[in-house]
Amino acid sequence: MAYAYDDQNVFAKILRGEIPCTKVLETEHALAFHDIAPQAPTHILVIPKGAYVNYDHFADEASDAEIAGFTRAVAEVAKQAGVAESAGGNGYRMLSNAGPDGHQEVPHFHIHVFGGGFLGKMLYFPG
Ligand code: AMP
Repeated sequence: MAYAYDDQNVFAKILRGEIPCTKVLETEHALAFHDIAPQAPTHILVIPKGAYVNYDHFADEASDAEIAGFTRAVAEVAKQAGVAESAGGNGYRMLSNAGPDGHQEVPHFHIHVFGGGFLGKMLYFPG
């Protein structure tokens, strides 16, 4: 199935500067900003600048430079936020939702970076 990207999604609008965000980091291939409804003391979203719906779309169609740049940006965000152990923090969790079962709300690939306190077990599965 081909990937269908909706360029009216909220993160596409942020990338185009049509709506604001609280920027944390910007690189050639990635933009990071605070989640508008944080679910942990640190809750940052990292998005690629390219138009990708989800992780599998990104992995299939992004260039090696985009993938490397984005991956490094996520790590840099964790360091700059002070949650990466390599930066003196106490750890973090990365999460990316995809599709209906993943409860993805915004159809532009993004990674959540959570931290700033104990995050509990990995997953709650309501059944
Ligand atoms: P997901 O369910 O993985 O698609 O998560 C989408 C996330 O985007 C949620 O955590 C929202 O709180 C967040 N979000 C939605 N709109 C904005 C916005 N304008 N700025 C920052 N975060 C947003």
